[in-house]
Amino acid sequence: RSKAAGGAKVSVYDDSMREETMLQVKREHELRQALQRDELKLHYQPVIHAATGNIRGMEALLRWENQSFPSTGPQEFIPILESNGLITEFGEWVLEQACFFAEACTTDNWRPVVSVNVSPVQMKKPGFVESVRSILGRSCLAPEQLELEITEGTMMDTSRKTIQTLELLREARIRTALDDFGTGYSSLSYLRELPIDTLKLDKSFLKEESTDRVGKHVTDAVIAMAHALRLYVVAEGVETKAQAEDLKSRGCDFLQGYCFSEPLDPESFKAWVKLERSAADVLQKSSERGH
Ligand code: C2E
Ligand code: MG
Ligand code: MG
Ligand code: MG
Repeated sequence: RSKAAGGAKVSVYDDSMREETMLQVKREHELRQALQRDELKLHYQPVIHAATGNIRGMEALLRWENQSFPSTGPQEFIPILESNGLITEFGEWVLEQACFFAEACTTDNWRPVVSVNVSPVQMKKPGFVESVRSILGRSCLAPEQLELEITEGTMMDTSRKTIQTLELLREARIRTALDDFGTGYSSLSYLRELPIDTLKLDKSFLKEESTDRVGKHVTDAVIAMAHALRLYVVAEGVETKAQAEDLKSRGCDFLQGYCFSEPLDPESFKAWVKLERSAADVLQKSSERGH
């Protein structure tokens, strides 16, 4: 009896594994089709220079506009792409789209920095830096206008290889940011060793500020630490004007969140920038006139 039960258990396990594999294969196929059918789109969320209110640039965020699953977010489908290695192909497509878009937004008096999320799997592939440089070359975007966002998880692997990749990017004058800071291990010693330019405070810092008595002190300490290491600080998930003003007064360099705008499709982003910049122009002109 026990043998039979055991046998049944094994076969159920096998079935569910098989089902999972089939679902995986199905999703993979759908994602490949999505890319071919132009269902994958990059949206862009503005990043604001806290001190001046100027627009520093934008973060590219992947969206899958699919009829059968209308709201599949990147957090759901990126792991699929990572597990089957498709992320490298997709990642290059993302980089290319983002670089060409940032170049198209560039004018004589606005040189936006575009931030692109890079998967650890993609970054570890041999030839990664070369492929980034080649995409940059084709797009004609200045290297200083590209910032690659890497998550703490990737960085915890502080192997020579990771540091070397970051150094190669720096030599190529491409910026790098540590994304979602505060959600991983956040060890000070490894942060000191990393040749990066920017620290992105995870949204959870702002959440803690409203619920935790010492939350603000923790954020302030992290901002001070980042500045001591000569890193720029970006706050993510800034949802209210009050938060934005507060972070500005506490020395946070850049702000990003629904308070300014949610991620927008390329055309809406351009329109948003145009409107913001013309409003800023009007303000500046009227202050020049002494109003
Ligand atoms: P992330 O890089 O930390 O991106 C910030 C996330 O916060 C985005 O979620 C954005 O829509 C959301 N967000 C922005 N402002 C606010 C706010 O004020 N409040 C709140 N609650 N959320 C805000 P999204 O677009 O769902 O992306 C989730 C994650 O998926 C990203 O986190 C990033 O790690 C990953 N991801 C997105 N696009 C790509 C991509 O092209 N490549 C790779 N490798 N990963 C990507
Ligand atoms: Mg990011
Ligand atoms: Mg992230
Ligand atoms: Mg983040």
